[in-house]
Amino acid sequence: MGAVACWMLDVGCLMLDVQTARGPIAWIFCVLAVVLAGCATGPRENSAQAPNWEGEGVVTAPMAVEVPAPLPAPAPVIAPPTRAAPSNQPAETWVSLNRWCKANGLAAPCLVGQAPGPAYTLSATGGVFALRVGSLVAHWDGLEVRLGFAPQILNGQPYVHTLDVKKTLEPLVGGVGLSWLKTNPTIVIDPGHGGQDSGAKSIPGYRYEKDFTLDWARRLGPLLATNGWQVFLTRDSDVDLSVAHRIAFAEAHKADIFLSLHFNSSAPNDQQAGLETYCLTPTGMPSTVTRGYNDDAALAFPNNAFDAQNLQLASLIHRGLLQVNGQHDRGLRRARYLGVLRGQNRPAILVEGGYLSNPHEARLIADPAYRQKLAEAVAKALE
Ligand SMILES: [Zn+2]
Repeated sequence: MGAVACWMLDVGCLMLDVQTARGPIAWIFCVLAVVLAGCATGPRENSAQAPNWEGEGVVTAPMAVEVPAPLPAPAPVIAPPTRAAPSNQPAETWVSLNRWCKANGLAAPCLVGQAPGPAYTLSATGGVFALRVGSLVAHWDGLEVRLGFAPQILNGQPYVHTLDVKKTLEPLVGGVGLSWLKTNPTIVIDPGHGGQDSGAKSIPGYRYEKDFTLDWARRLGPLLATNGWQVFLTRDSDVDLSVAHRIAFAEAHKADIFLSLHFNSSAPNDQQAGLETYCLTPTGMPSTVTRGYNDDAALAFPNNAFDAQNLQLASLIHRGLLQVNGQHDRGLRRARYLGVLRGQNRPAILVEGGYLSNPHEARLIADPAYRQKLAEAVAKALE
């Protein structure tokens, strides 16, 4: 979370526009703007008042963990985005669901409801995909998944946008797993925020996101190490860390997966609650959340090479965490403004593990036993 960071990001985004016009040098300025912002994360769907940034956070007692010591990070190197060539545009914009099912050896879509729009389910071996005409909200085997384009009826038949077929349906229905990972893979866990950037303030008013994310990461690290992962934390103390540094750290450690841990806030709204997991938006697709970012769908970022793996990774971890939070599901989402994901040369996701602005969730998150459960759920999802 971070309204200040988001404001700074807007500055960065303006510079991104400059970048697209003038090349890599301006991109470096854009990166610097993000670096100065301190953090690029903090999705809040509905723009809300900034959290109170004043006051000192209470640092949770550090726990003894055995994770490999992080190497000093090298100078940040982030490849600039490219603009998708017109020839990359799919020949067909909308795909008949019936035809797609047939081509993939699946039974025809099943009409399961009519209001507020026709709803269909597709049954595959790995699960059931449910979608509704006119709605961006779909479900993969019970998990909420946000589409880029609302399905529509054409000639009396349901149609899904090609990008949703390629980037959402196929990676999930085709079978979710981590078979693309090598053995003894390396994960970089990124506890969100740190140092001057406290992140969201917990509703009791004296604890901060940066401490909870660090504790979550410290609990997760040893669990993954036990399961054969090489584990590195972008930070293991309460220090400021730029987005560029976090990306360069993952690069230096040859991470196979990058996992950024956050908690959410919708302050002063204290009702919003639940889990959100973010992947970088695929090129050509509008984002679920933009936060004022100039969401230029034509841009292709380094991490877009991993769109399918991002979603698969996100779905595994999201499903695991829902079992801990009581199934308060706010969905697998796409965002382009999350600088910490854009430059990653590996599957990378960002988890918002609950709302510190919600009294119930804030109380849970403040409980070390709950954070241990969050860590265990992620570790289990990555087994
Ligand atoms: Zn955050």
